[in-house]
Amino acid sequence: MKTDANASTKALEHKRIAVLGYGSQGRAHALNLRDSGHDVVVGLRRGGPTSVQAQADGLRVREPAEAVAGADLIAVLTPDMTQPKLHAEAIAPIAKPGAAVLFAHGFNIYYKTIVPRADLDVILVAPKGPGALVRKEYEIGRGVPCLYAVQQDASGHARDKALAYAAGIGGARAMLIETDFKEETETDLFGEQAVLCGGVSELVRHGFETLTEAGYQPEIAYYEVMHELKLIVDLFYEGGLTKMLTFVSETAQYGDYTRGPRVVDAATKQRMRAVLDEIQDGRFAREWTAEYAAGLPNYKRLKQADLDHPIEKVGAALRARMAWLHPAPAAAPALKKVG
Ligand code: NAD
Ligand code: MG
Repeated sequence: MKTDANASTKALEHKRIAVLGYGSQGRAHALNLRDSGHDVVVGLRRGGPTSVQAQADGLRVREPAEAVAGADLIAVLTPDMTQPKLHAEAIAPIAKPGAAVLFAHGFNIYYKTIVPRADLDVILVAPKGPGALVRKEYEIGRGVPCLYAVQQDASGHARDKALAYAAGIGGARAMLIETDFKEETETDLFGEQAVLCGGVSELVRHGFETLTEAGYQPEIAYYEVMHELKLIVDLFYEGGLTKMLTFVSETAQYGDYTRGPRVVDAATKQRMRAVLDEIQDGRFAREWTAEYAAGLPNYKRLKQADLDHPIEKVGAALRARMAWLHPAPAAAPALKKVG
């Protein structure tokens, strides 16, 4: 692993940074960079949903093309599928020679849905955490670890710019790990598909269905397979498998060792490998790009099916009664037994 904690912000001193997009990552990057002393301008569509917020945060907001003109570094932090059009309209024809284009995820560069001009640096800084954490850690004097990479080094200073940007958003206070666009893109997609979003939600859903189809109360099934997941994940997060195993009972451990591998087995791993193959050979990227271009018909249908699942209905009712999730809770009616 190549790490570099000695990044300095020098390569971006007195340089203008345009941050395009003001969502999860965009807001955190723009505010942290500004507070690190950089000259930041936010590029957003006029009347867009987040431009009011950016202005309220005291940032200069311009149309994307206006923000890009004169910028030394352009951070592309809009949703991945919007980036090719944004690049074609507001970056390729406008970016000043020798500027750097920065991404927080390598998708469009790695799959060549964006091909930047040869005179531009193309770099990546990807925090390993959501934007809210990137901002919160920065405010208390710490940072979130970041991956960084260089795809195209036109100026001879691309790596220094990536390191300076990572330092500016607070990442260098934690850890910077060097990677390339291929590794960042493929591992990020695999993680969210096989484990984080896809894998874990299917595991929870199948567990919930198994219990409720066997006649158990949905409220109890919800607590067992969805709610308590947080306790386990927090232990993973704080101390890995070791801490989880320290905190659960011997009975839970024995069940884990003997039943876990029957639920998720070698055949599951083979299917994970197939998912990785589709990421590596570009099939996933082509499918997702075509789906987006077609107006997201399958995405919308599949999302609705998730939202309509019984676990969502019972979950909403139970969470309404979890006082700690609601800062100012209204008095909730007594919970009736359902089913
Ligand atoms: P987001 O969906 O939270 O933010 C979208 C922002 O882009 C909003 O300000 C929106 O108004 C603006 N926007 C949307 N469409 C636009 C368009 N056509 N033109 C101009 N602006 C537009 O996005 P995000 O989750 O912060 O993701 C940004 C980048 O960061 C992506 O490349 C993503 O893969 C990457 N990333 C995200 C996370 C995360 O935790 N969310 C983590 C690491 C990397
Ligand atoms: Mg799913």
